[in-house]
Amino acid sequence: MPLTSLYVHVPFCARKCHYCAFYSEPARAGLLRRYVAALCRDMEAAANRLRPHTVYFGGGTPSLLSLSQWRSILDTMSRLHWLGAVEWTLECNPATVSPEKARLWRDYGVNRVSLGVQSLEDALLKRLGRVHSRRMVFQTFETLRAAGFDNLGLDLMFAIPGQTLEMWRATLHEALALAPEHLSAYELTFEEDTPLYHQLRAGQFSVSEDLACAMYDALLEDAAARGLAQYEISNFARHTRDRDARAPAPADPGTVPAFACRHNLNYWRGGPFLGLGPSAATHLDGVRTTNWPDTTLYCERIEQGQPPAQTRDELPPLSRAGEIAAFGLRMTAGWRFDEFERATGFDLRREWPRELGQLVDCGWGRLDAERFRLTREGLRFADTVAQLFLRVPAPP
Ligand code: SF4
Repeated sequence: MPLTSLYVHVPFCARKCHYCAFYSEPARAGLLRRYVAALCRDMEAAANRLRPHTVYFGGGTPSLLSLSQWRSILDTMSRLHWLGAVEWTLECNPATVSPEKARLWRDYGVNRVSLGVQSLEDALLKRLGRVHSRRMVFQTFETLRAAGFDNLGLDLMFAIPGQTLEMWRATLHEALALAPEHLSAYELTFEEDTPLYHQLRAGQFSVSEDLACAMYDALLEDAAARGLAQYEISNFARHTRDRDARAPAPADPGTVPAFACRHNLNYWRGGPFLGLGPSAATHLDGVRTTNWPDTTLYCERIEQGQPPAQTRDELPPLSRAGEIAAFGLRMTAGWRFDEFERATGFDLRREWPRELGQLVDCGWGRLDAERFRLTREGLRFADTVAQLFLRVPAPP
């Protein structure tokens, strides 16, 4: 059976953001050209392994590629009969979207854009090292709507140094007034070896857990008030096309909003996927391969007809099931027991009875006849919860 989920990593950024620890490279013209040629070759080599149902171009900054580079990639996908995905997402930076690019993407079937906004305060954008301004966010949003995109997501960030609760509320208010179909909002984390991490260590600012919690509460409240239902810790989406509709309280806790990101749902449910590009991972039949996180090396290997994978990990089935349990519990729907068993071959109640009981006892989990899910409190501590389900394989 061919894979149905494709992730493509575009590893270039105009400039490194001050909080970012993802793998990305400065956009040098020669390397960009070489990458596009290698990616198209990599796609051709994978032609028979994929019939895309969902496609996601992430990065880096996919929107940074030029019109002609996009044409090469899209024409290759067309030749391979890879167009027509039910959901095809592109991550965009507001500084790098033109009406021409937006039209081209639409013409080939891209139907969803995730716009990296982060903040609507110019001073905070500068603090984060972002290359765009607040004005560009509004312009780009309009450009995308005018090109026919009716599924737009905004990415925001909170607990930014210097950000007050009032600033966050104002950003939320303005962002939600645009009536996006989807919202992702993440608390800023301080990754080692990033400029913001060093500033924090040097005492140039402090972090307040109470303020971050208040910001998260404001997020839950404002998103719900504007019709965006939470379906994962940091992700919210509309149930209907009606941009004025308020989110109804779903009768079934397993209801996922119509505009939830289907590509990510597949990750959280432990589904298989194909990853192309430097640092991208592929997951199939319990085996995870990860490509070299180095664009030049990725290109060299493809040009020489060699596989671009640096690592191959095969987790024992129970360890993989634990990983899938932890991922799925990030969703407000949690796990239906029959669904978990179909995905992993294990019974959640039989393998982790002590952990489920412990989570219910401390108010972080809710158990009923057919599913287990985290409470609002439990979702906030999902990373701690995840540790309970992971099963480290015994050394050989
Ligand atoms: S645009 Fe995204 S990937 Fe690039 S440096 Fe900024 S946060 Fe990292």
